[in-house]
Amino acid sequence: MTAETDARIAHMLHHRKASLELGEPVVPPISVATTFHLPQTQGAVHSYGRAGQPTWDAVEAQLAILEDAEVVSFPSGMAAITAALVCCLKAGARVMIPSDGYYVTRLLGRDMLQVYGVDVEPVPTLEMEGADFAGFDVIYIETPSNPGLDTIDIGAMTARAHEAGARVIVDNTTMTPLLQRPLDLGADLVVAADTKAPSGHSDALFGHVAGRDTNLMARIADWRRQSGSIPGPFEAYLVHRGLETLELRLSRMCASADVIAGRLARHPKIRGLRYPGLPGDPSHKAVGGQMVNGGFLIGFELADAATAERFLARCPLIEQATSFGGVHTAAERRARWGDAVAEGFIRLSVGIEPVDILWQSIEAALATDC
Ligand SMILES: *Cc1c(COP(=O)(O)O)cnc(C)c1O
Repeated sequence: MTAETDARIAHMLHHRKASLELGEPVVPPISVATTFHLPQTQGAVHSYGRAGQPTWDAVEAQLAILEDAEVVSFPSGMAAITAALVCCLKAGARVMIPSDGYYVTRLLGRDMLQVYGVDVEPVPTLEMEGADFAGFDVIYIETPSNPGLDTIDIGAMTARAHEAGARVIVDNTTMTPLLQRPLDLGADLVVAADTKAPSGHSDALFGHVAGRDTNLMARIADWRRQSGSIPGPFEAYLVHRGLETLELRLSRMCASADVIAGRLARHPKIRGLRYPGLPGDPSHKAVGGQMVNGGFLIGFELADAATAERFLARCPLIEQATSFGGVHTAAERRARWGDAVAEGFIRLSVGIEPVDILWQSIEAALATDC
């Protein structure tokens, strides 16, 4: 982590201190109120629960420190993505999205946005590099892409998009603001699923939009209030708690992923290994630049679907689940969702288990006839 990020983490951990009165709770209360004392409408911090409430304020304050931007929280990553796209698009507008990105974002474009007259053009992440941005209103980037882990230069894409008059939205879910900072590289909005590493314990769906354009962020907040796409106070509390240990968990997860990717690279049964942290990986160019490290996601192929399923079933320290970024190492065969990957392709999300015992369980599962 950079010194700036270290300072943001320390500030985040103490963000409530300055406003605490004697005897007040150190952690934010879970506020379930829908209504607030309102004898007159002027000057109240909160008026009605759909417009804003104290537990959102607490988690948004943390995220604002980490993003160094304004933040509006949402009940899921998809709710945040929807808000960002709706607020940047209108009928007749054109948006370029990654065809190898998060698949529900693609469905949102195809099944919903197109119906309202938005032209949605899916382009593979690597081809965005050379794509013509003329005539586009939004360039939507996901880097590293999910699950293929291809990367694209955010700064270069943003400069080109702005020249063409387009806004840039970056889905930063796989990296978090600790490991990659799209807004610092010029992106207009960051969207993220805090369901993943920020919450970290696979027990809360949550998302946020971050940005530095006050008018645009006001529109995002209006979208939340008017559409009613609001996070629950319990989830806001869980994400507040999760964010306090994000840096600790990420440090372990990324260091372990680096070790495991290196060992998988030398394993005879592994093909098509992808981990941006490996020096030979096509995405390695981004590491040390826009990416602080290689992250905690690894992609690899086993011989076929059956072999991959057997491996997953046999490894006691791999949770067979979709999603990633939790404390438990988890993996799945992505072709079962229709991703354009080989049948035996596995996306592995490295958790916080001590790395040697984790590797031993992976190695043992690979040793039995798979
Ligand atoms: C999970 C995920 C989302 C959606 O988040 P939800 O909280 O499940 O709605 C969006 N983008 C990426 C890259 C994701 O991994």
